[in-house]
Amino acid sequence: MFEVNNNKMNDERIDDIGDNHVGTSAKNPLRDDAFDLSDQEKIAKIQESVKDILETLGMDLTDDSMQGTPKRVAKSFVNEIFMGLNPANMPKASTFENNYNYGEMLVEKNIVVYSTCEHHLLPIIGRAHVAYISGGRVIGLSKMNRLVEYFSKRPQVQERLTMQIVQAMQEALGTQDVACVIDAKHLCVNSRGIKDIESSTVTAEFGGKFKEKNTKREFLDYLKMNTDFN
Ligand SMILES: [Zn+2]
Repeated sequence: MFEVNNNKMNDERIDDIGDNHVGTSAKNPLRDDAFDLSDQEKIAKIQESVKDILETLGMDLTDDSMQGTPKRVAKSFVNEIFMGLNPANMPKASTFENNYNYGEMLVEKNIVVYSTCEHHLLPIIGRAHVAYISGGRVIGLSKMNRLVEYFSKRPQVQERLTMQIVQAMQEALGTQDVACVIDAKHLCVNSRGIKDIESSTVTAEFGGKFKEKNTKREFLDYLKMNTDFN
């Protein structure tokens, strides 16, 4: 991790952080006043800003096709693609007692990740694979998808996203034995800059028993299983 001194933040440093995809903190860098404005107030403000950007680019916003664009973008920023910034939107990760005493690993594979790179505001698209070993509590399968979705809907770096998913699962389940692997394409790499359309980025976080070689191996082996039922 790299310390950021805002006073020294110049253009070169900004480019460096973006090009190297360096996350500066394990938490999303939110200000204390992040939720002083209501969602409606945010939408109104962002709408004006997007209008400004498009007009600066020379777009004619009286054109039928683009008239509603600033509002559409503002609504999607607040209600959809960045909705996970607001803790009020955190899904309730209700857990249950492990009544059937299933003691092995549970793996939820191929959870779709649709996130946004915080350096370029371009999409990160991929799959998350999440696993845990119950320490007495179990979690609904769809809750795992919802947690992945919630943390994805933020300006993100993939490493942080991976860690946040594991931490939230650990807290919900009361066990350290949680792991997550994410394999994703960053459109900022695929469509601009170096324009490498083939590359993808893999990140992993292994907690508790998943740090042990055999458990980690077992989890990674499950990811290789063919789950294409078509
Ligand atoms: Zn990027």
